[in-house]
Amino acid sequence: MTQTRQKPELLAPAGNLAKLKLAFDYGADAVYIGGTRFGLRKAADNFSIYEMAKGIDYAHNRNKKVYVVLNGMAHQEDFVNIKSAINELKTINPDAFIVSDTGVASLVKNHSAVPIHTSTQASVLNWRAAKIWQNLGASRVVVGRELSLEDCKLINLKTGIQVETFIHGSMCISHSGKCHISNYFAGRDSNRGGCIQSCRYRYDFNIKSKQQSKFLMNARDIMAISLVPKILQNNIASLKIEGRMKSELYIATAVRCYRKAIDECWQGLEVDFKALEHELSGISNRGFTSGNLETKAGADSINYQYAGYNRYTSFMGTVKGVDDVKGLAIEVRENINIGDHLQCLSKDGNIYPLEVTSLTNLNGGLLDRATPNKMVWIKADFNPAIGALIRKVLHKTETRT
Ligand code: SF4
Repeated sequence: MTQTRQKPELLAPAGNLAKLKLAFDYGADAVYIGGTRFGLRKAADNFSIYEMAKGIDYAHNRNKKVYVVLNGMAHQEDFVNIKSAINELKTINPDAFIVSDTGVASLVKNHSAVPIHTSTQASVLNWRAAKIWQNLGASRVVVGRELSLEDCKLINLKTGIQVETFIHGSMCISHSGKCHISNYFAGRDSNRGGCIQSCRYRYDFNIKSKQQSKFLMNARDIMAISLVPKILQNNIASLKIEGRMKSELYIATAVRCYRKAIDECWQGLEVDFKALEHELSGISNRGFTSGNLETKAGADSINYQYAGYNRYTSFMGTVKGVDDVKGLAIEVRENINIGDHLQCLSKDGNIYPLEVTSLTNLNGGLLDRATPNKMVWIKADFNPAIGALIRKVLHKTETRT
């Protein structure tokens, strides 16, 4: 089959409408979102049907795409509700449903014209499985995290189906689902959105082992930014960032970095991958691995030391207004003090230093400190777009457990 080289889509997570807009504003080509039913992130904010419709309009007005997850594994009693969800959702024109269950896929095919993307939860690991999903109506497979870039290429070459793969974010010891740890521990079904991150807990094992760690199943996060040049040679349609429950700063930073890497590689420019990896290690992570994308993930893909998140950047606020005289109106997320050295993560890809020389409330009163959820003015000598994020680079990496 002859292949023409395609620039891959950058696909970002969006846990709510504000994050959807943020992902697009920072450079995502598409986002994936969940409604209140049949997604795998019960703890995420999730969208109402009204918010989904607003998000889809926002995307389509900018030539971008929104995929809606329906990727829970369905039990028999779920089907009446799934059918009504499909009938409701198809009226707001999502660009695809992401589906794990073959029964749900057949329902989507029979009751809508919405394209089907096979979820990573379906564990597609070979082209024969991809072919079966293609026969069921899928136009894309989100392959299991077990696969290498070469495997992805083969699936596309053999079937012509679009391949989507994870390139950043959490990876769990079960790779592509089918995990039952939370079912046993908490009576919550991971395969229907109930995961309580049981694999991150500390465990005592009553077996003789050389491994002294208590965190034997705590997988590191995937980071594949330095593999972008290889990814571009492997016919991968979509590069997916994990994290519908992650923060605004995580989404903006991850999208900005991968946007820059994809665009610069595509143009044949030299990319400073070290700088981008450094940027990405500032947002919450459990330490990094390239997963299985190049070589098989081994012991170094597990973080045996601790289960917390590392980060060295902190989300301080959002730009809500810009004034030539007063500076930036900022909605504050964490305490901001006079003398703080902050940075503005601009939507144009630049990072502007922002030293806090004055803090003024909306009535013009001078402040020494701005506290969370307040709106303040900070003088600035640049003009970012409304919605740009303000961050602080911490003196050292901190680990939150
Ligand atoms: S408990 Fe861990 S391995 Fe199981 S689904 Fe949740 S995150 Fe994945």
